[in-house]
Amino acid sequence: MAAAGATLAIGSARAQGKAEKRIDTIVLGAGVSGLNTAALLEKEGQKVLVLEGRQRVGGRVFTLLDQPGYPEMGFNSMGEGYGRGLDAAQRAGVEMVDITPRFYGGPPQELWLNGKRLTREEWARSPANPFPDALKASLPGEVVGKLVAQHNRLADFSTWNDPANTALDISLHAFLKAQGLSDAAIRLANDVSPYYGMNAFEMSQLMMEFNDGFIKTQMAAGKRSLAVKGGNIHLPLGMAKLIKGDILLGKEVVAIDVQPGGVEVRCADGSVYRAGRAVCSLPFSTLRNIAVTPGFTGAQAQAVQTLGYNGLTIAFLTVSEPFWLNDGLSPSMFTNDQLGVVLPQRFGADPGQVSGLTVQARGNLAQLWDSMGKEAALQNVVARLEALRPAAKGKVKGAAMFSWSQERFTLGQIAYFKPGQVTAFAKAMAAPMGRLHFCGEHTAEGARGLEGALESSERVAIEVLTA
Ligand SMILES: Cc1cc2nc3c(=O)[nH]c(=O)nc-3n(C[C@H](O)[C@H](O)[C@H](O)COP(=O)(O)OP(=O)(O)OC[C@H]3O[C@@H](n4cnc5c(N)ncnc54)[C@H](O)[C@@H]3O)c2cc1C
Repeated sequence: MAAAGATLAIGSARAQGKAEKRIDTIVLGAGVSGLNTAALLEKEGQKVLVLEGRQRVGGRVFTLLDQPGYPEMGFNSMGEGYGRGLDAAQRAGVEMVDITPRFYGGPPQELWLNGKRLTREEWARSPANPFPDALKASLPGEVVGKLVAQHNRLADFSTWNDPANTALDISLHAFLKAQGLSDAAIRLANDVSPYYGMNAFEMSQLMMEFNDGFIKTQMAAGKRSLAVKGGNIHLPLGMAKLIKGDILLGKEVVAIDVQPGGVEVRCADGSVYRAGRAVCSLPFSTLRNIAVTPGFTGAQAQAVQTLGYNGLTIAFLTVSEPFWLNDGLSPSMFTNDQLGVVLPQRFGADPGQVSGLTVQARGNLAQLWDSMGKEAALQNVVARLEALRPAAKGKVKGAAMFSWSQERFTLGQIAYFKPGQVTAFAKAMAAPMGRLHFCGEHTAEGARGLEGALESSERVAIEVLTA
């Protein structure tokens, strides 16, 4: 099905001296949502062109193929209920492997507060433990998830973005207070390492409940976690191979002009592309820096300008000797130190062996690391680890540092809604602007993460094909 009003891709053809190609739809962004949209439109007979700002495809799916164990800096794993994800993997010809053992090998995570180690039992009895009695045995990183799961107010999580839910669209902070947590308990349970936003005041409880509902459906479908053999980046690479049209890399989109008869897209290198329609899969964090005419209005403008994108910076450390066997402690650490959260990677053929450590900083800590610069931040991580664990001295090396907030084409890890934003604009944010359509994980309505990104591409492909 070729869209009416299809026009020319003029930039690339002129630059390369080739005959100009008729393009039905330009897809902006070659992450999984953009790639899947392109594949779906081609399946229906459209001529598609994909423009990608980075020099690689995959967006937030990104594996360090040059590091031991191929650690993931982005997308980690899918659940057994990821129907779209598993289907995309099959089409892309990649093999999915069960990585559940990666999470369960080795001794459990230990808590390090103010430089001191506490076992779970010590923590449950500690006078410094600010949690209510029923939660005293929980580690800080477990508390929010448990409470949201126990007190999810949505009978049907797919109704999360109904504008009628205004009264429910409160902050995570207000919700946790209502569950009896003090400010000190909220700081420790959430703000030291917030999954979304900078702190619990910044996060919509409605979105937390949507997230929780999605996790529960995944758990009901099966408990295994699946990832792509050899690194998740092979999924978008395989998806890209299936696309017949051009995927042009290094094409940073700087302007989108939506006209009555088509869409004109301008890139930073001066090239211009035209087509009957365009699908924009760019995160709103980057779309807000692009000149779009005639321009966003109302709730959609508010969404593009203000939707949250949380900070996450990841260090990858190589380990020359398993120092945890020398001090007898777990390599897995939750700290309220500048060190962040240390996660042993069991990414080799033997999940009993640690192939390296990733160390995660979220929220304020991610900002602190970013402000130091990569080299200094990596050195600081190694120094803090060695200070807490003298057995690690000389055994760990900072190998890579990756900040999602500083990635020009993402500017944050993942979209999150602030209190009031779900009901203010979640339903309106993906509405087409004439011939310009929107997809991407931030526009998903019934699924989260990679599955949500793929869901959004199905919705937008139908939208384009039936427009
Ligand atoms: C650290 C991390 C861990 C995650 N873990 C999981 C997980 O375990 N399970 C799960 O389901 N999901 C996970 N996710 C989420 C999942 O990776 C994303 O939901 C999904 O990859 C998003 O795909 P997308 O196509 O919507 O966006 P993106 O992948 O961001 O694609 C957008 C594309 O647009 C490009 N772009 C941006 N601006 C421009 C511009 N101006 N011009 C041209 N191109 C531009 C980008 O380079 C990018 O390729 C994780 C994400 C991160 C970052």
